[in-house]
Amino acid sequence: MANDTNLFQNLISHCKEYGYIFQSSELYDGLSAVYDYGQNGAQLKKNLRDEWWKSMTQMHENIVGIDAAIFMHPTVWKASGHVDNFSDPMIDNKDSKKRYRVDHLIEAHAETLAGPEKDALLQQLDQLLAKDDYAGLKKLIEEQRITCTVSKTCNWTDVRQFNLMFKTEFGAVASENPEDNIVYLRPETAQGIFVNFLNVQKTGRMKIPFGIAQTGKAFRNEIVARQFIFRMREFEQMEMQFFVRPGTQMEWYNYWKETRKKWHESIGIPSEKLRYHNHIKLAHYADAALDIEFEFPFGWKELEGIHSRTDFDLSQHAKYSRKKIQYFDNDLDEQGKPYGNYTPFVVETSVGLDRLFLTILSLSYAEETWTKEDGTEDSRVVLKIPAKLAPTKLAILPLVKKDGLPEIARALMDDCKGSFMCFYEEKDAIGKRYRRMDAVGTPFCVTIDHQTKEDNAVTIRYRDSMLQERIPISEVKKKILELIS
Ligand code: ATP
Repeated sequence: MANDTNLFQNLISHCKEYGYIFQSSELYDGLSAVYDYGQNGAQLKKNLRDEWWKSMTQMHENIVGIDAAIFMHPTVWKASGHVDNFSDPMIDNKDSKKRYRVDHLIEAHAETLAGPEKDALLQQLDQLLAKDDYAGLKKLIEEQRITCTVSKTCNWTDVRQFNLMFKTEFGAVASENPEDNIVYLRPETAQGIFVNFLNVQKTGRMKIPFGIAQTGKAFRNEIVARQFIFRMREFEQMEMQFFVRPGTQMEWYNYWKETRKKWHESIGIPSEKLRYHNHIKLAHYADAALDIEFEFPFGWKELEGIHSRTDFDLSQHAKYSRKKIQYFDNDLDEQGKPYGNYTPFVVETSVGLDRLFLTILSLSYAEETWTKEDGTEDSRVVLKIPAKLAPTKLAILPLVKKDGLPEIARALMDDCKGSFMCFYEEKDAIGKRYRRMDAVGTPFCVTIDHQTKEDNAVTIRYRDSMLQERIPISEVKKKILELIS
């Protein structure tokens, strides 16, 4: 059995072996930091997205969902500040030519230090980043004798900014100025919400406070893309922008901070594996920001961001589009006067769907061994994905391929498949089929045997406990529906 350090590597191999995640374009040796979701991965991802969508839209009367395009007018990204500011400080090693994100380089080094030294270094890093002190960051790297993982030297360039947006050309019309045809692949889904604020508010007759939710692809030319699907160049975000009256943003910031942590717990993430991390250096648009962090196998890292974005985005789009983007609030203030026209403030919740996927899989993956009654050892690899998220809920397994058992199994399959995902299999010994279902994360298996023909009962086996019980075949569907609700 694996120790903690290679458990994560085993999880990555497992994802490939059981149709969860494949390297993109593997046939051509892969494309770095881009991944494809296989037959089981796509379903788990959809289940997570559906849970989030339902919790945001169906469960909140004042939140609606949209689906904006990936391509947007280039001025959107000028207005939002991404053209000028969406960059990270980078440093190159002159010997290996390898480029690093400065914060990642120093954080990785801090991990190798003892407690107090580590804390002091991280504090210094935060302070220098907050002041955009690039010379200070370089000095810190040199003082700490931080070396490149490839060349092992400390021969560094100066620290520079590197924009993370992907550019592409739009349309076939040649222009004298090549810059005219440039569009960006969106680096966040949020701007699609801001530019549709008035459309949604007016057509949906939305009253503040209200939210607009969206899920979709985002693209960032990440320099250090590692840790599997934790940091990708193409990924999916699930974002919600909540529009509030100016002055009430901290109240809503605290509300969403707690609501989102509780949501993560509700889908099966233990609360001791989650924590808040307040930002010291705030982005150009924020007056408060924090991360909800999860303890990944490689340490505590950001899973979701909660940001109080002020009226920055709507004001910027009003300025650049020369249109009025305001809300008329006819509620009365403490003096009995209508609040009138204002630019709403925004509290954002932004979670990466792929990081959430990795969170669930790293919690679910287990390599188990135990001693059987006869004294021999047994083992299995199991994905204990919470039943309501699991890609397949029920495996229907006739004991043998004959004697009328497949017909009974097929009839059960037809009865259940309209209500939840089922999987039918009649090949191999039953023990082998159970192990395969454990590895793929199917929470329930039902076996149809010869006795079923006599008593109309089947054996249901529970993935996590491996316990089995006999239940009437007529109750299978109801029972599974109860267990996954
Ligand atoms: P990080 O500090 O890890 O780069 P960020 O602060 O830039 O993340 P945000 O801009 O707040 O991230 O994006 C919101 C969410 O989108 C993050 O919490 C994360 O879950 C997800 N996300 C951001 N970048 C990536 C990426 N390259 N790959 C996968 N998910 C990402």
